Amino acid sequence: MNKEFEQTPELQILAAMLAGTFVQRRDLYARQLDDGRYLCVRKPLTENHLVAHLKGTHTLGTYVLDANSQARFAVVDADDDLQLARLANMSMSLAKGGLPSYLEASRRGGHLWLFFAQPMPGKTVRAFGQNLLKLYNLDGIEFFPKQDKLAGGPGSLIRLPFGIHRKDGQRYGFVTDRGEPLAPTLAEQIRILAHPRTVEKSALDDHLKRHKALTQESSAVQHGTSGVTLSEQIKRRMTVLDFVGQYVELSPAGRGLCPFHDDHHHSFSVNAEKNYWHCFAGCGGGSLIDFWMKWQGVEFRQAVKELAGMLL
Ligand SMILES: [Zn+2]
Repeated sequence: MNKEFEQTPELQILAAMLAGTFVQRRDLYARQLDDGRYLCVRKPLTENHLVAHLKGTHTLGTYVLDANSQARFAVVDADDDLQLARLANMSMSLAKGGLPSYLEASRRGGHLWLFFAQPMPGKTVRAFGQNLLKLYNLDGIEFFPKQDKLAGGPGSLIRLPFGIHRKDGQRYGFVTDRGEPLAPTLAEQIRILAHPRTVEKSALDDHLKRHKALTQESSAVQHGTSGVTLSEQIKRRMTVLDFVGQYVELSPAGRGLCPFHDDHHHSFSVNAEKNYWHCFAGCGGGSLIDFWMKWQGVEFRQAVKELAGMLL
């Protein structure tokens, strides 16, 4: 995949498409150093920079907020494969609710991108993101933009997709919820992402409204008398191996046929030591609550309610 763009004609067109979707500002740009850190270059971003990014001679970062503190996309950043699996869960569930998203693989974990039909204030995007993470029990996962509003500096940035990671020399593309490439070539992926499906303003407003109602209702449900959240009490009550073992036939090594896709390869496994489950075909993974959310097709709060009734 590293040599992918060397033979590709019309790199300028692809570079323009890439910028159209992923670049918020042209007055400055960020360049990745060999140790993985980024350097802010206070010079205009040119087509040559973007072409060099695709060719792999250098790698760019993209700022999430534009100069007016508005964002056209939001990114959830998974640090490891388990978090990535949980992002894939969230992505599938969001898609059912009319909130499309795109999963990008990375060195470890990956990024989930959500695009908006029009630029949105950073503050609104962050309220949306924080609600989203809460709703899917992903508190603690990084969300971009990290600022409601810029105050002097250019704010947070994220690696511009389709470049080579300077640290490992690898190039990563976008994948489906099942972990397959979004399209066979990266050039085709860029063409798809030139017109990404977007989160409509109305869907976003609905989401925020619905979440407000839920949090008011659930703050009463969430906390038991012990001061420990219900979800914690549930997770302490039973191991993932014991719980999932009731629903999936597992080998002594913890492997089994995944109940969430048409599996012939024993893609499903439980890591007893670290207490989580995972499907290698891309169905996700996580705690026993994540399992129950997927098994029942319910959101976090509903799953906690059901599990509390079963286990506590
Ligand atoms: Zn699976």
